[in-house]
Amino acid sequence: MSTEQAQPQRALAERMERSQVITLSEFQPADPSSWERTSCRACLKTDLVEVLNLGEQPPSNAFVATEDLGKQESRFPLSLRLCESCGMVQLGHVVPPELLFRSYLFFTSSSKWMADHFGKLMTENAAEFVPPGGLIVEIGSNDGTALSAIQRSDVRLLGIDPARNISVMAASRGIPTIAEFFSEPIAAEVAKVAGQAHLIVACNVLGHINNLDDVCEGVRKLLHPQGAFVIEVPYLAPFVERNEYDTIYHEHLSYFAVRPLAALMNRHGLHVERVQLFPVHGGTIRVTVKHGVWRSDDAQAWLKREEAAGLSKQSTYARMAELTIRNKTELPTKLAELKRAGKKVLGYGAPAKGTVRLNYCGIGTDLLAEVTDSTPAKQGLHIPGTHQHIRAPSALNDINPDYVLLLAWNHAPEILARESAFIARGGKFLTPWLEELK
Ligand SMILES: [Zn+2]
Repeated sequence: MSTEQAQPQRALAERMERSQVITLSEFQPADPSSWERTSCRACLKTDLVEVLNLGEQPPSNAFVATEDLGKQESRFPLSLRLCESCGMVQLGHVVPPELLFRSYLFFTSSSKWMADHFGKLMTENAAEFVPPGGLIVEIGSNDGTALSAIQRSDVRLLGIDPARNISVMAASRGIPTIAEFFSEPIAAEVAKVAGQAHLIVACNVLGHINNLDDVCEGVRKLLHPQGAFVIEVPYLAPFVERNEYDTIYHEHLSYFAVRPLAALMNRHGLHVERVQLFPVHGGTIRVTVKHGVWRSDDAQAWLKREEAAGLSKQSTYARMAELTIRNKTELPTKLAELKRAGKKVLGYGAPAKGTVRLNYCGIGTDLLAEVTDSTPAKQGLHIPGTHQHIRAPSALNDINPDYVLLLAWNHAPEILARESAFIARGGKFLTPWLEELK
């Protein structure tokens, strides 16, 4: 090994040991223009057809400070396309990730329910796949919550996450974190320095990455021959069945089913070994990927179910488009009716899906003035594009609304349990598809 190669690796190893945030390259200012992708992210063919168009939207996590309310916000096209070759559902336009992820305001630790879910994933898979001395790498490690659930002292942990603000938080809780996008060169470097990993985990992150080939090549190199690559992604089937169109946002480039995922892995010498379904985010699949190219019985069964559900057919998405367009009329109409009836309405949660729903439906502060969110970093800011003021959850008691619009509908069970006092005094929860929850 030359001295030039040895130096950055030694530096990386030292910083990993000291649990510090590591920056491997200088941050380049974002290019504010989006670009159009004409080839499928899973199979690289160009058989993409547009199935849903949500117009031009601001980046869903680009929250606006009060002093910036008069300034112009960037907007980018948001349209969903289906690959007729492999069934991959994906965005047609890519916003530069530096614009979307360098200062990320979602912290895994802010939701106990999600922290528990990911912690369990880590401990179970570490027990199944990682021998003493083994390395566990998490791609998109956020604030280190999931990795810190592992209580074993005989394994080594490494997080990789491009958001500098949360990488600092992870490092402060003792999880060494590389503040970078996971890529084939980073994976190769980690493999050289720390050895191959017995477990690589990527939860809710694969959908955010444009170049999936780069990630899969990185995994192929970094993954130990007996190791497992465990992915969690929101599943396409419930997204379509329940018309979760507000989970379409610029960060979320791919909407996975097993079929395109298996095709993608096969192109990189990997295969889908096992698929499990969880009721997280309205329906999430946990996919265990290993070395070697073949179809497991589990994968075969899922492919059959997906074919029966028509997940690769354009007609399936035509129904989704129809429901979406209907919501664009019905939701603002309902809010206007409540306003005329003198009812107070407060939004609950300022997740990315809230930004998308409010912007697509054109719901400004006249129909919905304020929302609450439990993430302190969002409080005091305003929703991108539609400018609802974001307040702490205690605003629910100050405002005492008649209705709460549940923008963070994926956390409904947790929220309803937390706000039982509001419900007890007659408050009503309204889903964005106008269902009243009790
Ligand atoms: Zn494809």
